[in-house]
Amino acid sequence: MAKAADIPVETTPLEWDASLWRTAIAQLEQALPVASIDPGIAERLRNPEHAVLVSVPIHMDSGEVKVFHAYRVQHSRVLGPTKGGVRYDPHVSLAECAALAMWMTWKCAILRLPYGGAKGGIRCNPRELSIGELERMTRRYTQELRGVIGPQEDIPAPDMATDEQTMAWMMDTYSMQVGHATPEIVTGKPISVGGSVFRHEATGAGVVMVVERACQRLGWELAGQRCIVQGFGKVGGIAASELVERGAVVTGIADYSGGAFSEEGLDLAALARWTAEHGGLADFPGVVTHTTNAELLELPCDILVLAALEGQVTGVNAGRIQARIVAEGANGPTTIEADAILAERGILVLPDILTNAGGVTVSYFEWVQDLGRLFWDRDDIRHRLAEKMCDAFDRVWDLAERERLTPRSAALVLGIREVAAALEARGLFP
Ligand code: NAD
Repeated sequence: MAKAADIPVETTPLEWDASLWRTAIAQLEQALPVASIDPGIAERLRNPEHAVLVSVPIHMDSGEVKVFHAYRVQHSRVLGPTKGGVRYDPHVSLAECAALAMWMTWKCAILRLPYGGAKGGIRCNPRELSIGELERMTRRYTQELRGVIGPQEDIPAPDMATDEQTMAWMMDTYSMQVGHATPEIVTGKPISVGGSVFRHEATGAGVVMVVERACQRLGWELAGQRCIVQGFGKVGGIAASELVERGAVVTGIADYSGGAFSEEGLDLAALARWTAEHGGLADFPGVVTHTTNAELLELPCDILVLAALEGQVTGVNAGRIQARIVAEGANGPTTIEADAILAERGILVLPDILTNAGGVTVSYFEWVQDLGRLFWDRDDIRHRLAEKMCDAFDRVWDLAERERLTPRSAALVLGIREVAAALEARGLFP
């Protein structure tokens, strides 16, 4: 057996060098020649600035002690504190958090928010945990991140399987540590503790603002377009109802348990009631055709909204996607191979770092309101969000047209250039 000392250092992969991270790096490398930034700055952008691994021990309801593995990665702090969600999922890893943190950096930069990117998560199956276990796990995770997160350092938000309640526990734990209420430590909180109106709807609403803007640029009416939405949670559920409000027809929707399809359009309210009561769409008794997740993605539609999880359209199924537009509400739902196939087939992909940026934008509004202790109303926030999303969309679209890029490449180039300009101006310490 080889001794550790015999293994060349360069063959030992870095801790975050796996799976999704490779997608994020490959995208960065593809964009760098177009972005044409200083090589030293490019090298800094290839690496997350901080990556933290913590063990989170809790008492389970059974009395047994269980340890969960958890992460927080901060990609770039040049523009301000880092910002990013916390996810509870059995597949969370340092690599996944590092990739998502990098994408958050580009996303914040594209939207011109004074933040860098971060992401964190706990490796667990949230559906198997009781409320009490979730609370103890969240509070201990927050405690373990003391000194890592902070209103001027790194501001968490909800992501997969975390919600307003999770953020309230994090806010309370941090506030108890510092001795006073600190609402600006997290975003996506309940309104009663400094949350912002419209934060809950912001990502899904932002997805539809981008889809609508794309339709305008293509000379299409959004009303009447047939849409399939993968994911029936915070992003997919809201995006589906926003689409219907604008006259589009949602024919298909899926959650972890499977998909439901109806040529005439789905009754979203009935599906939401059923899901709330039974935990999933699988056995919904209404007049729908039940499909697997994979089947639903391949059904004909005009707009396919991917709002569940990463790696859903791949080199294997991209050739069978029958949509005209793929809108990425989730982070990283289209692999690099799929991206190339979709581009070749003339399917427009609205990239995640632009399309799902509504959440972090209203999170930014929430943080600003918390810091100022002054709150805005719903119409004001919706209006400010639409302005920011449309401005970012137009800059991406115009760059794509000018430099003959896909919207994803254009978005990456824009984001990279914004961050590079800040690194250039600040220089390298010391
Ligand atoms: P969520 O937990 O509220 O919803 C996720 C949905 O996906 C659920 O309906 C779940 O059942 C479904 N799902 C899980 N596995 C699935 C599978 N294999 N096939 C089909 N559906 C499946 O999470 P969310 O906040 O809506 O996040 C969804 C995605 O959007 C994630 O990639 C997240 O990173 C991204 N995102 C979320 C926000 C936000 O503000 N919540 C912002 C930006 C990006």
